[in-house]
Amino acid sequence: MVQVLVTAGPTHEHLDDVRFLANASSGRTGFAIAEAAARAGCDVVLIAGPVSRPTPPGVRRIDVVSAQEMHDTAVEVWPSCGIAFGVAAVADLRPKNRHQGKPAKEDTGLVLELERNPDVIAALGHSKRDDQCVVGFALEAGDADGRLGDEAWAAAERKALGKIERKRLDFCVLNGPAALGGDRSETYLVESEDGSAKVTPLGERSKDDFASLLVDRAMTLWRSRSGVSDGGVANGGAS
Ligand code: C5P
Repeated sequence: MVQVLVTAGPTHEHLDDVRFLANASSGRTGFAIAEAAARAGCDVVLIAGPVSRPTPPGVRRIDVVSAQEMHDTAVEVWPSCGIAFGVAAVADLRPKNRHQGKPAKEDTGLVLELERNPDVIAALGHSKRDDQCVVGFALEAGDADGRLGDEAWAAAERKALGKIERKRLDFCVLNGPAALGGDRSETYLVESEDGSAKVTPLGERSKDDFASLLVDRAMTLWRSRSGVSDGGVANGGAS
């Protein structure tokens, strides 16, 4: 059966041994996708940033802290996988210097120098073989009522298409702002068709339902790429 890689949760970018930069990602969606993939019979590797969530049944979990660690782990695991889901809210920036211990505030300056982190899912996209599929996410801020208006929607579609091209994604899941923190999400699957966005609404549903639907879509694409039939047997000989 296909091996599936999922990145989930936030990353912590340490300034010293106790202080770090982080974000509010709960890991909810990534863990739901890992669980759905395991339920579908996949061999799942979940690369999780710092979150206190139980490991879904049947999932191999590798805990990481920083974006660099997530990147290095993902790149190492990727060659043996067929599908990658980049669900983690990876910090784009990290402190340029990490200090040892916990320096006193009198000993630290007021200006924090930052540098860019690697893009985990882009690294996988750019090294993917013809039989591998990469799925990324895009979260868009909406209007005051938490929905995307026409103009914001068109911009979101363009951005998703940009991510597909830059990161070499097969799908980009466009999430409305309601997805943050809640148990439900309204999502759209964006694909590139001759350079234009082909959008498939996945509807407003629970994150568990969404996870199963997305895994199903990705597996269908992976099967068509790798020549593997439903039973996990390769049509063309190689599996
Ligand atoms: O570019 P942006 O951060 O909006 O893209 C979001 C997508 O890229 C998500 O799938 C996220 O997991 C992935 N990403 C990543 N590494 C980064 C930044 C984003 O894998 N450094």
